[in-house]
Amino acid sequence: MAFKDEGKCPFCSEVMTPEVVEENNIRRDQCKCIKCSRLIYVCRAPGCRDYARGGDVYDDEFCMTCSDKIAEFGKNATEKFGTAAVIAGTTLVTAWLTSLNKK
Ligand SMILES: [Zn+2]
Ligand SMILES: [Zn+2]
Repeated sequence: MAFKDEGKCPFCSEVMTPEVVEENNIRRDQCKCIKCSRLIYVCRAPGCRDYARGGDVYDDEFCMTCSDKIAEFGKNATEKFGTAAVIAGTTLVTAWLTSLNKK
């Protein structure tokens, strides 16, 4: 049985080592919290070992902490540069994070 790195579950906030439910090469591996049994995915942010929430329709890209950081980045940037620049900036950051995670 494959296991992931220890990280924080976005649902129950327990630090645990999730069980891998389904290994994927193109998409992220689907994991399950061993504490609350909900589906979670590895956060896409480089260097982050926490987990993002899996959903029926949509799976989160980032864990709660990283989502907050990105939202914060967007908010600060909106104040400085205006909305148009932020939309472009957020797209760039997301693309950058995604490219760093491709191995
Ligand atoms: Zn959990
Ligand atoms: Zn994260």
